[in-house]
Amino acid sequence: MTEPMMPPAHPFDDDKLKEECGIFGVIGTQDAANFVALGLHALQHRGQEAGGIVSHDAELGFQSARRFGYVRDNFTSQKVMETLPGPLAIGHVRYSTSGNKGQTAIRDVQPFFGEFAMGGAAIAHNGNITNANALRRELIERGSIFQSSSDSECIIHLMARSLQRNIPERMEDALRRVEGAFSIVAMTRTKLIGVRDPLGVRPLVLGRVGEGWALSSETCALDIIGAEFVREIEPGEMVVITDKGVESHFPFRRVAPRFCIFEHVYFSRPDSILGGRSVYETRENIGRELAKESPVEADLVCPVPDSGTPAAIGFSLQSGIPYAMGIIRNQYMGRTFIEPTEQIRNMGVRLKLNVNRALIKGKRVILVDDSVVRGTTSRKIKEMILDAGAAEVHFRIASPPTAWPCFYGVDTPQREKLLAATMSEDEMREHLGVDSLKFISLDGLYRAVGEAEGRNKSCPQYCDACFSGEYPVKPSDMLEKGFEMKAAE
Ligand code: SF4
Repeated sequence: MTEPMMPPAHPFDDDKLKEECGIFGVIGTQDAANFVALGLHALQHRGQEAGGIVSHDAELGFQSARRFGYVRDNFTSQKVMETLPGPLAIGHVRYSTSGNKGQTAIRDVQPFFGEFAMGGAAIAHNGNITNANALRRELIERGSIFQSSSDSECIIHLMARSLQRNIPERMEDALRRVEGAFSIVAMTRTKLIGVRDPLGVRPLVLGRVGEGWALSSETCALDIIGAEFVREIEPGEMVVITDKGVESHFPFRRVAPRFCIFEHVYFSRPDSILGGRSVYETRENIGRELAKESPVEADLVCPVPDSGTPAAIGFSLQSGIPYAMGIIRNQYMGRTFIEPTEQIRNMGVRLKLNVNRALIKGKRVILVDDSVVRGTTSRKIKEMILDAGAAEVHFRIASPPTAWPCFYGVDTPQREKLLAATMSEDEMREHLGVDSLKFISLDGLYRAVGEAEGRNKSCPQYCDACFSGEYPVKPSDMLEKGFEMKAAE
């Protein structure tokens, strides 16, 4: 059977870690799906390949729409939204981090739906299940028939096999078997459910919208629907929301939380609040820390837009070196070229970014970027800046060297493709051909997110595995495939 496949969402190698997924749910408002569509639109930075919404209406039951592409292109027409009636809806935007990586099939697009003896349930998952292969093997041996290549589908099958009496209890049962990172919004006919894994790796927040409630990956999506931020769902917490209010449970063994520190650096939107802190301010702090740790004499501080902007402002404020928009991003360079020709491919980064020549010529430039992954884009940007006549180019990076892959819901290249996994900082500087290259230290990053003493080595406060190689959850599937963990020190 052939089915529509989505071409890769990133036809140009923009050399960034790809955000995972965004999830959103609403209960207790008229036409909840409209709110969900708006929420997903605000979360589009977390996944651009595909999106889906499931709603429930007392008369029509569960309804679903799943589409490739942006929310704004799929969930704004009256024709589509009329098919999603009811006071309860959940949705998901996706960048594939498991299953068919970079090649999304419509059957992989969430929310997933299961019909159980006690009624239907739909789930939308952000994160990655690190023991999904083993679970899938076991479930298939026991008769489960999988519809997708997604790790998240395991949860539906585990729920189907649970002997518990109701859906929230079946979900608890299923999630106790699951390892890795999960923030989930789910729905039954009458309930909106939110869950975070015991480490709380991925975000999930609760909001109040009129007489109803909303669950969202980030607070920026609450703002767009005029919802009031109530609180974060705690690590290991399950909330079950009905017309009677919010019930909270802690069904998992309590452990020290390990939120993804990279959400602060790059994944989350700068206008979101994480752990009570403004993401924008944290990024500005990162720039300040970088300027303290790695000062350099220069004429201008320029961000690599857009994600390097707050850190560049922080660097400029701390160092006193003027901030300037030395690189301009073409905001409309989305999925314009679905199948780029070789010639267009070679233009690469120039299609997205352009140097402000008049500003750069003859200047010593500090470029602030959020991360260096393979280094391909950093090299091209350096060439563009030198072509424009810069006298010197200094890179300052708002995260420590990314030397390890993420297995918790972020698409990272294999370890050997990560520049920092194969080269020292000095070798990277030479490879990129810049006058200086400095990354923020791990302690500096912890200070910027509010840990005054830096990283607690015996019990780190965050997940920082892509920098430290210390994985808070064993990546079982990857170990089975031959991945080698860092040797204990
Ligand atoms: S490995 Fe890195 S990107 Fe992945 S959850 Fe941990 S800190 Fe976040």
